[in-house]
Amino acid sequence: MGFIVAIDGPAGSGKGTVTSIIAKKMKLNSIDTGAMYRCVALACLRNNVDINDTEKVKEVLETVNIELLKEKDNLIVKLNGEDVSKEIRDNPVNKIVSQVSAIREVREKLVELQRKMAETQDIIMEGRDITTVVFPNADVKIYLDADVEERAKRRFAQNQSKNIECNFEEVLEEMKKRDENDMNKPFGALKKADDAILVDSTHLTQKQTIKEIEKIIKRAQKVKKLEPEIYRERPETKWKIFVRTITKGFLRTLYRIAFRMRISGEENKTKAAENGGYIICANHVNFLDAVAVVVFSKEKIRFIGKYDLARVGIIRWLEHLFDVIPIKRNTQDLEAMKRCLKALKNKEILGIFPEGTRRGMEKNQKVKNGAAFMAIRSGVPVVPVGISGTFKPFSKFYITYGEPIDLSKYKVKGQEKEGQEQATKEIMDNIIMLTNKNK
Ligand code: C5P
Repeated sequence: MGFIVAIDGPAGSGKGTVTSIIAKKMKLNSIDTGAMYRCVALACLRNNVDINDTEKVKEVLETVNIELLKEKDNLIVKLNGEDVSKEIRDNPVNKIVSQVSAIREVREKLVELQRKMAETQDIIMEGRDITTVVFPNADVKIYLDADVEERAKRRFAQNQSKNIECNFEEVLEEMKKRDENDMNKPFGALKKADDAILVDSTHLTQKQTIKEIEKIIKRAQKVKKLEPEIYRERPETKWKIFVRTITKGFLRTLYRIAFRMRISGEENKTKAAENGGYIICANHVNFLDAVAVVVFSKEKIRFIGKYDLARVGIIRWLEHLFDVIPIKRNTQDLEAMKRCLKALKNKEILGIFPEGTRRGMEKNQKVKNGAAFMAIRSGVPVVPVGISGTFKPFSKFYITYGEPIDLSKYKVKGQEKEGQEQATKEIMDNIIMLTNKNK
């Protein structure tokens, strides 16, 4: 699988133009998935198929062969060998394409084709469901948006430049209808993936939009290059232990200069360690908290850290020193899960922020079940930790460890999901209680 840039967004958001310019600049192969759905719609029109007759559409689908070719930087779309690049943009196709693309079999066939296209090349693919369905694990996920009025204005200007007769109100109405259809399809509906980066081009020029997206792609390319380095597990040598001890001491001193550290309940860690490994679950306030828990603990705690943080050299060095486990958030990161379970099996201590992100609860984000899942699966206790303070220089910085929580009661066959939800709630209730103690 090559490097994949996935871009979704509503009609008229500029995805097509932006994608083809970026593809040229960054040497990526651009794939316009809308053109593929348009080909199926055109094939239906040519065969006089009523698009409400799904069986007939399926028959047409069997006969459709789509090719996306590049000729002198222009996209050539071929349907069964014939160049239909212009015809697929005409009004009759515009009118039915959204409905055709809502048919499950049509989507299944085209999604499979789209995935194949990325097997051997680096691509930038745009559409409606690329970040959510086709490539949920793409290296870059962008949701390109703009106000519907602005998008209609752009489309109206485009039509005028091509001498296509239309009035603004009509264009706006059609755009709204297309949004409505695209966002409410039973399959492959347009929506922003949780981890897609939103680029709102309402107040941006095309040049500014391209610059912003290029910046995001370049950053991801850098991370991708570093991937083997990020995932490299360094053996626990005497030298590494020595450097870690010195670094911990140094960071502790810095913390003590900057804050009045108040650490309590540490005996709970000793209790939890009686039968082996355990998981420390804390609220996540800012970047200072994980470091504080790690450097003020005698035990070695392996935190789980956002994968792309490791693109910064010094952070990568520190993460290797403290054996941080990198995790790609908002995806099913099986590699991270495997490493965590292995660590617990080896009786190591994991550090996890169930909120997933800084101040996740305040931002009303759903708390993640990962910690509960791993604790129940590995049969290890969870030590809740409340972190609080103003984090201003010389203020009190509280780290309060609570009683270990045994989550084995939530291991009920056939009710794993419910069990994890309840266990997560119990963990979070404890963390909140410990945090409030020092308010
Ligand atoms: O991007 P474009 O406007 O050419 O796409 C035409 C139509 O194809 C869209 O309105 C949408 O209904 C459908 N489409 C889709 N999934 C994609 C790309 C396009 O459903 N990945």
